[in-house]
Amino acid sequence: MKAPSVILLIILVFSSSPKLSAQSLGSCLASQQRQVWWAQNAAHHAKWLQQNQLIETWLKDNPGVLEQRQLVTIPVVVHIVWNSPEENLSDAEIISQIEALNRDFRALNEEIPDIPASFQPLIADVEMEFCLASVDPDGQATNGITRTFTINDVGIGGTSAIHYSALGGKDAWDPEKYLNIWVAKFAGGVSGTGSFPGQGPPEEDGVEINYRFFGTLAAEPPYNLGRTLTHEVGHYFNLEHPWGPNVSDCCEDDFVADTPEACETYLGLCPVHPVVSCDEPDIFMDYMFYTDDACMGMFTLGQKARMLAALNLLRPGLLSSGACTTATGEQTDEMQLKLYPNPASGQLFVQPGGHLAGSRTFVINDLLGRQVLSGLLPENVVAIPVGQLPAGHYTLQLRQDRKVLSAHFLKL
Ligand SMILES: [Zn+2]
Repeated sequence: MKAPSVILLIILVFSSSPKLSAQSLGSCLASQQRQVWWAQNAAHHAKWLQQNQLIETWLKDNPGVLEQRQLVTIPVVVHIVWNSPEENLSDAEIISQIEALNRDFRALNEEIPDIPASFQPLIADVEMEFCLASVDPDGQATNGITRTFTINDVGIGGTSAIHYSALGGKDAWDPEKYLNIWVAKFAGGVSGTGSFPGQGPPEEDGVEINYRFFGTLAAEPPYNLGRTLTHEVGHYFNLEHPWGPNVSDCCEDDFVADTPEACETYLGLCPVHPVVSCDEPDIFMDYMFYTDDACMGMFTLGQKARMLAALNLLRPGLLSSGACTTATGEQTDEMQLKLYPNPASGQLFVQPGGHLAGSRTFVINDLLGRQVLSGLLPENVVAIPVGQLPAGHYTLQLRQDRKVLSAHFLKL
């Protein structure tokens, strides 16, 4: 890390703002790390502003996004980077965490009935599910968990080293196809951090969670229901804290219309509704606050829309990763399927090389994973008519027996 970044981080962490309890038990480093990223280069902040504009435009262009009711599955790899044995969490602990994440994103968590009546209409089933990857970047079968011993015994979590095998951490799997989750010891009480889309080098894209607060079996109260990961995955899909994007401000816009502006974080607290820190009662049970795990229980519809926009615009590779494919066949390397011309307008030609000789079936999905076209592609036929499809990004899957090839294309 360059010296100016260190200085800025120190200023951020030790500022007198009530927001800034960054080293306190249960706090999140995401906003602080983004401000360090912004401070490194003016272009970084400009890129963030531009992305936010793209999100706003996409949401205007897709007013029905909340009615689409389409489930998407996000492939996950969990990298356990451990020094002492208690940091080397069990498979069962990891699975408990992914199950908790899925409950929270599908609004299947047990707190739903306890959400105050005024916020009940805002509760969102985000319709995202997360799977431990079954195919690794080399196309080999995996349980979606890596385990790496590190000599770092002071806490590699929250440092850039965790993202690099050569520095005592673990290299990311292709961040366009996998949500990378690193689990490790943190030097302080920080519970975790997450990359906003487009933030930092791709090798560092993903989320990091303090091993003490990962899972629901042996994690430490009051962060033992897996909500640290739910919160950080919210950042990963571009959600802000309810008090706004800047660490030292509050009552700022979080770019979500249905979350009331806030100033208090409720770190280490479990308030009783209603509590007001700006003008309206705080939606402190939202996953993007800092309350105890047991006091959280919802994302809002506005947050769902913003996450789906981020998924489609800024993390589209996750939608066609294929890294969770098991039932439908072996997923083979996407590079083996070539599509041309790309962008396409009328005919899309496929070139599967020596793979998949003979008759094949094809499926075209849009970015929300919805099937928009399918059919049979007889042997010696290499063109698929796509002129009827609306302009946009698509994924073509070509299947034969247990083999599946897939590739992206853009329809003009
Ligand atoms: Zn956060």
